Amino acid sequence: MIIPSEVKVAGVIYKVVEKDFVIVDESAGLGSCDFDKTEIELKTGMSQTRKEQVFIHELTHAILFEAGYTEHDEDLVDRFSIVAHQVLKDNRLVSEDKELSHVAGKHLFKSMFTSN
Ligand SMILES: [Zn+2]
Repeated sequence: MIIPSEVKVAGVIYKVVEKDFVIVDESAGLGSCDFDKTEIELKTGMSQTRKEQVFIHELTHAILFEAGYTEHDEDLVDRFSIVAHQVLKDNRLVSEDKELSHVAGKHLFKSMFTSN
């Protein structure tokens, strides 16, 4: 899975940045999602799989927030994002290839505006 440098959620662009220290509720964490700054932070040094899981977790927070949910059940987000990550990967719904992922994104973008 490619971790993008930014991700669009309901028309809002969230920047995805890696940081040495990610503060979550005043203590160190693996990732966070700042709704005001529209930024997803991921701690540097995680394995690829862990980074993907944390990214999908924080993306789930962004999706819920943009859908109008301001209170998030952390247990629900945790369980949902772990399974969502597995489904996306095991069914090859995300590309492992940066070039392919870019082309697929472009194609999707193009088809959205030329379909009718
Ligand atoms: Zn969370």
